[in-house]
Amino acid sequence: MAIIGCSHTDRYRAKFLKNTEPATGAVRVTWMGTAGLYIFDGETGIYIDPFVSRYGLFKVGFGAALKPQNTLIDEWIRITGGQHAAAILVSHSHYDHVLDAPRFAEKTGAMIVGSQSTANVALGAGIPAHQIKIIKDRDTVTIGNFEITFIQSVHSPALFGRIPWTGTVDAPLPQPAPASSYREGGAYAIWVKHPKGAFLHYGSPGVKPGIFEGIHADAVFLSIGGRKDTASLIDHVITPLHPSTVIPIHFDDLFGPVDKDVKPLINVKMNEFWAEMENKPFEVRTLPVGEARVLFK
Ligand SMILES: [Zn+2]
Repeated sequence: MAIIGCSHTDRYRAKFLKNTEPATGAVRVTWMGTAGLYIFDGETGIYIDPFVSRYGLFKVGFGAALKPQNTLIDEWIRITGGQHAAAILVSHSHYDHVLDAPRFAEKTGAMIVGSQSTANVALGAGIPAHQIKIIKDRDTVTIGNFEITFIQSVHSPALFGRIPWTGTVDAPLPQPAPASSYREGGAYAIWVKHPKGAFLHYGSPGVKPGIFEGIHADAVFLSIGGRKDTASLIDHVITPLHPSTVIPIHFDDLFGPVDKDVKPLINVKMNEFWAEMENKPFEVRTLPVGEARVLFK
């Protein structure tokens, strides 16, 4: 039974990022569930890991061919206001990060930016090569006022202590395909600098000490589903970046529909997360699903 003020849902709701309205020129963020974000600064829109075509654990685990769901993708482009998005950044090429990226690119005209494996997913789904930008460790791309650097990190041991679907996608992958065809392809932290502030998107909570030396982010979007523990993420991801705000993502149950109440993923240990986040030199904030919030003003 939920105890008032202590349950995950109460904490999640109490900590929503405040929507303080600035005059103009704010950078806003909309959470799409999992690691999916839409970032908009009034001029340029960027999706990161947009994924809305969710399938149940049974279909995913038993190798059903997963189709991007056009109706949901259209709906989310409308919700986020991303009709003219300029780019789609992909942290790694597991299906829950990349499956929908080609359809978002097709419908918005945005450039897909990610690893060679991500490029092969895009090519297989019919996206032309000129709409795909392949990055390697520490490559930087500039899109509007956003300066984006991909930093190679490691995937978390998310499945019974092991990294699921390792390896690379070595040839164009036609859709639909089963989850197991979407190999990781290298996991990247995505560091985004903007005149209003810098943030880091951490798509998978693996730990690789030392990669964030000399890097600062005001806000960290921290995937926490499948993490080993929270303390090592604090030590090796959050502390080196000196953020003022940490925003957990990818803790929702990706095997069910996106829901405003955000049911946590099985085994995600939200109580451990909230306990470890007490009394830290940064704030923890959460995002409602499908509502833009001011990130930087
Ligand atoms: Zn993954």
